[in-house]
Amino acid sequence: MKANIAEKVLADDIEKVLLSSEDIKRRVAELGRQISEDYKDKDVVLVGILRGAFVFLADLIREISIPVETDFIAISSYGSSSTTSGVVRILKDLDEDIEGRDVLIIEDILDTGLTLKYLVKNLSSRRPASLEICSFIVKECKQSVAISLKYLGYTVPNRFVVGYGLDYAQRYRNLPFVGTLKPYVYERDEI
Ligand code: 5GP
Repeated sequence: MKANIAEKVLADDIEKVLLSSEDIKRRVAELGRQISEDYKDKDVVLVGILRGAFVFLADLIREISIPVETDFIAISSYGSSSTTSGVVRILKDLDEDIEGRDVLIIEDILDTGLTLKYLVKNLSSRRPASLEICSFIVKECKQSVAISLKYLGYTVPNRFVVGYGLDYAQRYRNLPFVGTLKPYVYERDEI
């Protein structure tokens, strides 16, 4: 009962649902099948980017049928505002050595591409056997640097989105769908 009340309050702040939980479930299952096929003879490490990718990664690994290891790297991104700072900093590094391993970066959303550009450069210097990216969402026409993705879940319009791991001021990550926020949410925070 308590959980329903919490979800209703959060969902009330949503202007438009862009990806329903059914859409997400179906696409994540397809991605899991594809990754299982492509990496069946490889020594795979899935590297989740904290914090946003934890929900996607948790669902994705349960759709992957081959042995995989998971590791996490935490980097700074937006703080509590909805515009990019362009500053990328490692807050928590990987626990495992990735030299000679097949690394698949699991990202929640690709916006300007600055975060992934930095990460690819950083992780490449550790000499993995291969380094590829799976991003759950890509924003239309927004990348200021070219990033090549091996796997992509969905493309969404160039709006700030929340839910399914994505936050605004650390809230909304627990919504099971992806959507845009009503303007009053931003106005409320400016007061
Ligand atoms: P980029 O470096 O590509 O501009 O931004 C990537 C990171 O910024 C993502 O991992 C995510 O943390 C954050 N981000 C970018 N766009 C959005 C968005 O629309 N919503 C949320 N919640 N975070 C975003």
